[in-house]
Amino acid sequence: MKKLFILMLLLPLSSHAWVLPGVGDYKFESIADQVYVMHGPLQEPSKQNQGFMNNPGIIVSKNGVILIDPGGTYQVGKQVLSEIKKITAKPVLAVFNSHIHGDHWLGNQAVKEQYPKALIYAHPNMIAQAKTKVGSDWINIMQRLTEGASKGTRVVAPDKPVQQGDEIVVDGQRFKVHSSGPAHTDTDVMVEHVNSKTLFMGDNSFNKRMGRFDSSSSMHGGIKVLNYAKTLDIKTFVPGHGQSGDFDAAARQFLEYLSTLQQIVKQGYERDLEDYEIKAVAEKQLHAFKDWAGFEERIGKHVFKMYLEIQATEL
Ligand SMILES: [Zn+2]
Repeated sequence: MKKLFILMLLLPLSSHAWVLPGVGDYKFESIADQVYVMHGPLQEPSKQNQGFMNNPGIIVSKNGVILIDPGGTYQVGKQVLSEIKKITAKPVLAVFNSHIHGDHWLGNQAVKEQYPKALIYAHPNMIAQAKTKVGSDWINIMQRLTEGASKGTRVVAPDKPVQQGDEIVVDGQRFKVHSSGPAHTDTDVMVEHVNSKTLFMGDNSFNKRMGRFDSSSSMHGGIKVLNYAKTLDIKTFVPGHGQSGDFDAAARQFLEYLSTLQQIVKQGYERDLEDYEIKAVAEKQLHAFKDWAGFEERIGKHVFKMYLEIQATEL
């Protein structure tokens, strides 16, 4: 009897987290009153992490839940919704998608399946791109990298465009949209939850992980947007990947990375160095970041992207 009682005590705890074998245990953690984030794995999408690698966030309001970035596949979206049900039985009322990269929004499908009335907000470019080949390319990327774990995932594009300065009230919770031109992509929105002074940054900040800067991105814009975020009245910054915290804990390092890279590449460009020579300088001067996931495979690409941007401003 005693044993059974102990077992009953332990059961709710042991079943609390979502376990990805060999990757880790994931659950929504409180970061402010009624605000939670499930901090995802830092690695690229894989068979092991099933395409889960982002930081879904939720705000629990009086009558429901507002969800930011529901994850990278239909299956991950369903898991995210199961984890939400461990926090509250209330329905999802609204969703924000931070940008076009599939690891953040392909979970929309699961949300719409369970909560067809939930409105999904995003940058107008994101809505447009999701409906083109860009959206279906992300389905294929996830399918390939997860070795089929995302099978059945399809594009469910956001419904409602939002832009810089928009204020949206959902069930008494106030949200402010920050979006100031290309940075991580040309589809970025940062979502401020005014009530709790939380800023969901999307991939405008990375913490302990290096991400992609594709052709639509602007590293100069990335520096600008982080300097802008620093001026906002925010208590908790939620990066697209990695731990949340105050600006120093969650965003300062990535701003330093980009600013230092900008300096190194500018100097190299002025001295007519080849890009591989600049890369060698960057690897040395940015060695503090060498343990960040993806540093080795990204640093060369980051140097090249920054080089192109500096060259374009000089022309
Ligand atoms: Zn991204």
